[in-house]
Amino acid sequence: MEIKTYPDPCLRIKTRKVEKFNGDTVKMLDDMANIMYANQGIGLAAPQVGLGLRALIIDTGDGLMSYINPVIEDESKERSKLEEGCLSLPGITVNVTRPEKITVRAQDAGGKFFLKTLNGLFAKAIQHEIDHLNGKLIIDYLDPVRYFLAVRSLKQAKKNKQNV
Ligand SMILES: [Zn+2]
Repeated sequence: MEIKTYPDPCLRIKTRKVEKFNGDTVKMLDDMANIMYANQGIGLAAPQVGLGLRALIIDTGDGLMSYINPVIEDESKERSKLEEGCLSLPGITVNVTRPEKITVRAQDAGGKFFLKTLNGLFAKAIQHEIDHLNGKLIIDYLDPVRYFLAVRSLKQAKKNKQNV
């Protein structure tokens, strides 16, 4: 398992629901957590490691949590901007406006359903990761000119890396 960076097609793949909860699920989430911590991330979605599954992990400082098959049930009208980065878009940050508070329904590593209301950084990070499950990246929030520039610099950076 490794972090896939833009323009890897994995980042745009259609994800499917996790149907089976067993040792493989736990192993996958464990591997994802190791990668996330090794890269100082606060969240990681399955497509970022090449898996087309609706699973994400998150740790914004309150411990590791897994959200499998997450669905946003409710969101606040209040929105705020946050400068977000992404492990799959090295060197890029984007100011993204999102609801401040959300309620998410999801399953844990054992398949048990739970409902959680989140706010602040936790709410923003989960929304960022759920975007990944839908093939959406923070650069998609940019206007066309900034999008073009971001894509160009990401592709150039990747090319330079491969040439080394
Ligand atoms: Zn990301």
